[in-house]
Amino acid sequence: MDKKIRDNLAIINDNIAKACDKSGRSIDDVTLIAVTKSVEVDSIRALLELGHVHMGESRSPEIVKRNAVINESISRRIELPGINPNNRPIRPVWHMIGHLQRNKVKSLLPIVEYIHSVDSLRLAEEINTTAAKLGLEEKVKILLQVNTSQEKQKYGLAVGAVAALAEQIITLPNLQVSGLMTMAPNTLDSDRCRFCFSRLREIFEDMKTDRIVGPEFKHLSMGMSQDYVEAIEEGGTMVRIGSALFA
Ligand SMILES: *Cc1c(COP(=O)(O)O)cnc(C)c1O
Repeated sequence: MDKKIRDNLAIINDNIAKACDKSGRSIDDVTLIAVTKSVEVDSIRALLELGHVHMGESRSPEIVKRNAVINESISRRIELPGINPNNRPIRPVWHMIGHLQRNKVKSLLPIVEYIHSVDSLRLAEEINTTAAKLGLEEKVKILLQVNTSQEKQKYGLAVGAVAALAEQIITLPNLQVSGLMTMAPNTLDSDRCRFCFSRLREIFEDMKTDRIVGPEFKHLSMGMSQDYVEAIEEGGTMVRIGSALFA
């Protein structure tokens, strides 16, 4: 199983490198997030051993549970005699990529590095006040989720609502608005996917031009197993990949 993950990871990293090359970008500009929602904890451990730390989950209780299991085994290993104390353990960097309910924010905040799925002022405010209550040292990095495909069943802000909401959220002191996120339609039609990605990129550029956001606003989280190459060519900086990595 580890071999399969290693091979898939190599293929994906290679495709990412080619897409960067083709669009004149550096591979350092693109972060691969391994979406682990459908796999066992052992697969997360296998990735960590390969040096891959960025993990994405779409359900908050899963992140909490899995993080606890992983940390437990890391602490157990550190206590083993003979292990070099300077050999710092590699811990996962968690990305919350799915719909987030406000009552789950408190358990999630101490664990996650990025929340990709903020799509309302109420949720942003909940994150802001909870961060203050928890006394978090750093601002919580969030991305605004945009429904670029305009499918009814999808979460995310309407394209026309993003800038106005960002102007409100940017005033919340404990949040750092780090970028935008979208999901393309579930289709093999790569032109339709590309359209969603370039749409997100346009909104992103407009917000920068209008100075609604500052330099910390730099991420476009877009692209999944079927469409990450297109997403990178359209400017994506974070790709979220599950099935292509673990299948
Ligand atoms: C599941 C999921 C992914 C990964 O999808 P794959 O097609 O398995 O790569 C990416 N983003 C979100 C928000 C998801 O829920």
